[in-house]
Amino acid sequence: MLDKVVIANRGEIALRILRACKELGIKTVAVHSTVDKNLKHVLLADESICIGPASATESYLNIPRIISAAEVTDAAAIHPGYGFLAENADFAEQVENSGFIFVGPTPDVIRMMGDKVSAIEAMKKAGVPCVPGSGGPLDDDEEKNKKIARRIGYPVIIKAAGGGGGRGMRVVREEKDLLKSISATQSEARAAFGNPVVYMEKFLENPRHIEIQVLADGQGNAIHLGERDCSMQRRHQKVVEEAPAPGITVEMRKSIGERCARACVEIGYRGAGTFEFLYENGEFYFIEMNTRIQVEHPVTELVTGIDLVKEQLRIAAGRPLSISQEDIVIRGHAIECRINAEDPKTFMPSPGLISRFHPPGGMGVRWDSHIYTEYRVPPNYDSMIGKLITYGENRDVAIARMRHALNELIVEGIKTNVPLQKDIMADENFQHGGTNIHYLEKKLGMS
Ligand code: ADP
Repeated sequence: MLDKVVIANRGEIALRILRACKELGIKTVAVHSTVDKNLKHVLLADESICIGPASATESYLNIPRIISAAEVTDAAAIHPGYGFLAENADFAEQVENSGFIFVGPTPDVIRMMGDKVSAIEAMKKAGVPCVPGSGGPLDDDEEKNKKIARRIGYPVIIKAAGGGGGRGMRVVREEKDLLKSISATQSEARAAFGNPVVYMEKFLENPRHIEIQVLADGQGNAIHLGERDCSMQRRHQKVVEEAPAPGITVEMRKSIGERCARACVEIGYRGAGTFEFLYENGEFYFIEMNTRIQVEHPVTELVTGIDLVKEQLRIAAGRPLSISQEDIVIRGHAIECRINAEDPKTFMPSPGLISRFHPPGGMGVRWDSHIYTEYRVPPNYDSMIGKLITYGENRDVAIARMRHALNELIVEGIKTNVPLQKDIMADENFQHGGTNIHYLEKKLGMS
């Protein structure tokens, strides 16, 4: 096993990684910014190093400082968590070139999946179903672009190859808007991502977001761990996630899951990963792959009994997969509510001092969070302060437990989105299951 791991992240995921390391007997190094010196995982780690000021560019995004921390502590590996440098191929490359293990895929695979045009190309080749589209970058040939859009059929969506975080996309409903939308998306993409390449896809009107979790060892073995439904979104940000996805049959799961696992073997994938799909009228359409652990991984852990972060660490240590596809059995239902420090109506961030905190508990309740009474939520980072996850033998039980758990959760001193989560759990259509990606915004009167 690995001897010592640098945790290059903060908040709940840093604590999650620390717990997995402790269970495996791996020593831990917390690297943190000045405002994060009292984070729970920093206090629990074997060693901790302050790598810079609050500003993420000078701390959690500062590659030389993180690698120096690994050097001075003589660590074996670096776990990037999610966000920050987790999907930065240059970071992974520099980690490896400095003689450390990167807990994740090889830099080449991260790079290929980070460019959506090359990711789609690779997935098509591997037999994963994709959204009908241009099948490559758009050039400046106006007639050709019009022809592509006519072939796909309106509405179409223009997307940036280097896009992320729901930015760099434009829906086009009529031919008269096509060319100006292409050039607008190109300039936006150049400014935001330093890469003007755009491509075209069929715009699906009312899809659900369903994703497949995979584990691969980079030694020819790969498995899938079923799907998650993450359709409850606001501004392309996930708010609630669940596993399994309502209405997905065992046969559908097997068919799409096996294709993803096969694709992993084909591209030489290593580590935990997620294939994101839009799902409409019974069909899956690949949109992108996340080459890291995701925020919503606990729902999969609860229905499979597999600790995904421990598996990431085992794979990073060079071990072949210890579980086979037959070992994966989906049992019961799990739901995750993201708890954010924000105004539940305006969604404005609400950092500050937590004056009183009480976590929920009981059977089937999991609380993944770094907060405590007197903890000050800094204004510098993402507003997520915890994840409340419930499990039940079926979806109704998981929802009932979530409603109790949300009532038990007490966070005072700052505003949180707990009232919004209570509304969602009480919503009849959510309770019925299978709502699409526009549902929450419609409910909130945003569209
Ligand atoms: P990002 O990397 O920015 O998250 P994605 O490709 O994952 O970009 O797309 C983000 C979201 O944009 C999707 O979850 C979906 O809501 C919407 N979207 C993307 N492509 C399409 C499409 N072809 N049709 C309809 N909606 C889409």
